Formats: sequence, structure tokens, C-alpha cells
Amino acid sequence: MPEHNISKRLDPMSTRNTDWFWDEAAEGRLSIQQCESCKHLWHPPRPVCPECQSVDLRPEPMTGRGTIYSYIRVSYPPPIGFDEPPLIALVDLEEGGIRLITNIVDAQLEDIEPDAPVEVDFEKTASGKSLPVFRLVGKGGAA
Ligand SMILES: [Zn+2]
Repeated sequence: MPEHNISKRLDPMSTRNTDWFWDEAAEGRLSIQQCESCKHLWHPPRPVCPECQSVDLRPEPMTGRGTIYSYIRVSYPPPIGFDEPPLIALVDLEEGGIRLITNIVDAQLEDIEPDAPVEVDFEKTASGKSLPVFRLVGKGGAA
């Protein structure tokens, strides 16, 4: 992974319902909320299981592999925290039913196509928190 200069990326907002997600990312894990009662997975985090209303929830580590569902490059207005217009994508995780809004890093718009395989990596924010992002698999990004 190439070394990056000091990050300008905005830090995630800290909330009672999402701090665990960022704690997992700090440990290098992409984890998704899972219900202990019915085993349902969902994202983004919420305080109650959307299937059975249980509050017995825990982080479940994902493989970090997925495919691109859709993508866009945002050029205007200039997004805050990026040196170059970022590639924003919807990524479907290998574990079915979980779709993340994320960034595709170290890729050009023309390198990307729907259903392209990707895998998670982590970039630092301005204060050093870890942010899950994705790289194309087999395009010189991830080894
Ligand atoms: Zn449940």
C-alpha cells in the first residue's frame, strides 16, 4: 500500500450507536452489526434489530470482499477533505444483503465497472481514525 501524505479526510462523527464500527475499523476489521437473537445483518448501524426488535447486538467481522454495484466521481462542488475528486461507490459485500457507501481508492473512473471485485482497506482520517475504503482486486492496487 502506498504511503499517503497527511490526511485531510474528515473524521467520522462519534455517536453511541456507531462508535463500535470505528473501533472495529481501528483494529483493521470491517464489521457489520448483527442481531444475536435472529442473526440478521444490517447496515448502517441502529440501536435495535430491524427484523426482531432485539437490542442484543454485536459486531460481526466481514471478509472485506465485495463487488461494485454503482459508482460516481464527484467533481463539483469540490468535496471537502480530498485532494482529487473521489470515487464514491455502492459496494455489495460478499455476505449477502449488505451494501456500503464507500470510496474506491487508487483507481481511475475508467478502471471501474459494475460488478468489479473489490476488497476493503483502511485509510486514515485527519485525526488518525481508520476509515474503510475499497480497492479493485487484481488491478495493481491490492497485492
Ligand atoms: Zn433480530
